[in-house]
Order: sequence, then C-alpha cells, then structure tokens
Amino acid sequence: MKANPIIGLGTPKQAWTASRHLAEVPTLDIGTLVPEGARAVIIAPHPDDEILGSGGLMKQLVDAGRELQLISVTNGSASHPGSQHWSPERLSVIRPLESAEALRRLGVNPADLRWVRGGFPDSGVATRERELREFLGRYLQAKDVVFATWCDDGHTDHEAVGRAAAAAALAAGATFHEVPIWAWHWASPEDVRIPWARACKIVLDSQTLARKRHAMQAFASQLLGDPQIGLPPVLSADALERLLQPFEVVFL
Ligand SMILES: [Zn+2]
Repeated sequence: MKANPIIGLGTPKQAWTASRHLAEVPTLDIGTLVPEGARAVIIAPHPDDEILGSGGLMKQLVDAGRELQLISVTNGSASHPGSQHWSPERLSVIRPLESAEALRRLGVNPADLRWVRGGFPDSGVATRERELREFLGRYLQAKDVVFATWCDDGHTDHEAVGRAAAAAALAAGATFHEVPIWAWHWASPEDVRIPWARACKIVLDSQTLARKRHAMQAFASQLLGDPQIGLPPVLSADALERLLQPFEVVFL
C-alpha cells in the first residue's frame, strides 16, 4: 500500500503560481471540451469534489446550455473520524445538502441537472470498485464527456473513482477526462508525476471564480474541524486558496 501523500500544509498557491510547467499548460475552450450535443458527466467521490475540481467548468457548461449530470459516489460520512459533533450519520445528511447549496451559489440550479447519489462507503470505495464500475455504467452514454478524479490523485477514494469511471466510460464509448484535486496539495510545482503533456486549462473569468469562491464556503463541515478531539479542518484556508486558481485543469 502506498503512503498517504496528503499530509502537512501542502504546496502553497504561490508555488503553483511560479510553476513553469503549469504556466505552459495550454488552454482549451469548453466548446471543444464538451461539443454541442454532448452531455457532461461529473463524477465526484465526495460532496465538494465537484466544486473543488470542476465548479467553474460546471457553471460555464450550464451557461453554454450543455446537459449536465452529477454523480456523487459517497455521501462523505468519513471526513471527521472519531468526532461526535460531526458523526457519520450527521455528515451523511449534511454534506449532500452542502453540495446542493454550493451548486445554487455557483449559479447551477440542482433541479436543472441530473443528480445521482451512489451511497458508496466513504473511504471504502476501492473495496467496491467493481460494483461502482457497474453502477456508473448504468448512467453513461456514448456521447458523454466524463470528468472524474485523477487515477493518481493520492486519495484512495479519488483514485478508485478515477479507475472505475475510466473503465465505465471506455465500456460505454464515452470520452474520459481526469481532474486533479489532492494533487495540488502533495505535488511540487515541477513534479514529474503530474502528466503535464495531457493537461489543459479551462480559464475561469473573474465572475465565475467569485461564484466558485462563494460556493466553496458552503462546505461548512469541511471548513471546520473538531477542536474537542484536535481534528483540523479538512479544507484549510490555504487549501481553499490553492483550489481557487483562475483556471481548472483536466488531464485529457
Ligand atoms: Zn474528495
């Protein structure tokens, strides 16, 4: 088993701003990424990943009139292990509600997208990977453009979702792209583990970025740890800043 790379404060935003590799990543417009007539499917391991990795993309796709489907694989009940305040039962109710509020803040009406919840176990997706592949396969169509977390993102759920989504997309004849999320934490600015050659940027205008920032503040459970048991927030202020670049990256 690999060591967990998601430790410490992570790579600061300023380091990414100075990254030569990141600066050289080409931009791609969403009309090329998701052609007219195609549907975009966003597959999020936990309620918040859809906004952290693809919030700006989702907003722009909705504005462009593209059909959008969101698949939330788990309900995020394992984000605060050992906490009585943030019990798994409470989180499993609150976190999907936070996602709904975040979508509204983004300017995406949750009622306007097809939203499927998988109910897979948070932190245990890899143990049900085959089942997830079959589950995803039920919702994917040949003309879909699928966005799931990167297969090497450094979080077991993110990686299992990436693998299962890649296999399901291949079987459905759909186009598959990967979205890095935790990689921004553990990777270094010129990291050779990042597949730079297949990276592209989706530029976010200032209004979209402001909406994404506002949407991220809806994830109250992730912005607060549990001081009673010394649990820090899952998303620190630095982590939020790191995820608020004026672009989002996908690996084609
Ligand atoms: Zn996640």
